Amino acid sequence: MQSEYERQLDARAAALATTCVHAGDAKDPGTGALDVPIVLSSAFGFASADEAAAAFKGENDAYIYGRWANPTVEALEAKLAALEGTETACATASGMAAVSGAALALCAQGEHIVAPRSMYAESARLLRERLPRLGIETTFVDATEPGAYERALQPTTRLLYIETPANPNLAIADIRAIVALARARGIATIADNTFATPFAQNPCTLGVDVVVHSMTKALAGHGDVIAGCVCGNRETVARIRDVVVKGFGGVLSPLSAFLVARGLRTFALRQRQQCASAAMLASRLATHPRVAVVHHPSLPSHPGHALAREQMHAFGALLSFELGGPGAIDAGKRVLEGVRTITHAVSLGDVRSLLVHPASTTHSTMPPEARAAANITDGLLRLSVGIESAEDLWNDLEGALAK
Ligand code: PLP
Repeated sequence: MQSEYERQLDARAAALATTCVHAGDAKDPGTGALDVPIVLSSAFGFASADEAAAAFKGENDAYIYGRWANPTVEALEAKLAALEGTETACATASGMAAVSGAALALCAQGEHIVAPRSMYAESARLLRERLPRLGIETTFVDATEPGAYERALQPTTRLLYIETPANPNLAIADIRAIVALARARGIATIADNTFATPFAQNPCTLGVDVVVHSMTKALAGHGDVIAGCVCGNRETVARIRDVVVKGFGGVLSPLSAFLVARGLRTFALRQRQQCASAAMLASRLATHPRVAVVHHPSLPSHPGHALAREQMHAFGALLSFELGGPGAIDAGKRVLEGVRTITHAVSLGDVRSLLVHPASTTHSTMPPEARAAANITDGLLRLSVGIESAEDLWNDLEGALAK
């Protein structure tokens, strides 16, 4: 029998499925091809000198040069905006191009950012090491603690950075509360929605100014492309596009855009399956005698469970867990090396299930004390649940846990 959660997932998939297939697509008027073609041309010809001059003044919408605009990339951007419920979107060369470009476009020298302690390690490194060299400082807070962002505010604070659920421990932050704090003071908000995906959460509809994604992950979904995007209102996204794509050259290739758009057509179906399997695996892991703790917002024991129910459409396809007892770290290694259906690799959101040890891989660039403060323990394993049979995944995990 279908559980209440499965019915919720079916409803969410039904709400997004048509948008996933059709948004942004248009029949090619020249050939009748059903998909917007992969236009690889770097420059576009002008019909006249006047048209060229007008294009450069922004008086017509003629394509000029591939770093500024490209039809294949624009078709993808329309799909992304429809999925995030935003006015527009800008595709970028990677998730990090989106994260760094958005932060740089919204903050200047002498300004200050508040960000969560638990977040993707390269984003944390941008804020901890790279932006301070440009005079932009960040205060890291426990984003799950009410009032933490407010206590960290300074007169120069320009940006509140959100990542919920957080990588890799699935900590949940209260998006509405952070937005209210920011709006009352004219401060911008950015949310990295990579972990949740627009299937499970739409931060901009909760008031966030800018959503960033690593489209490398669940949006593309097939582990065959590196890509990112920024979603928001026209003015802000234009500002970010000007910095990250035009200025720093973080442009997405049309071939990659085509791959992401193709992946997105099955996004709702994939996420429906992945979210259902993740909740099932989380609940079974939670009662396994060798497992000390499981982090997944679907579990009533998760501290962010109630908040996740309020602000998310689904609980997502990522979970993490820790083994208990003496020798837990070595036992974790045996699980990583013991899985067969699940792949031991970084990245997430793929059709394949992916298992990783964050402390020694994805989050190894975080100083150990920062990892400890973010509750990223040495025994933590992160599982990105794919579209394989949930029972096959469980058998694989159970077998590896028994080793
Ligand atoms: N944000 C999150 C939450 C991520 O997990 C990642 C990559 O793992 C990124 C951003 C960066 O994305 P990319 O690898 O596409 O640059």
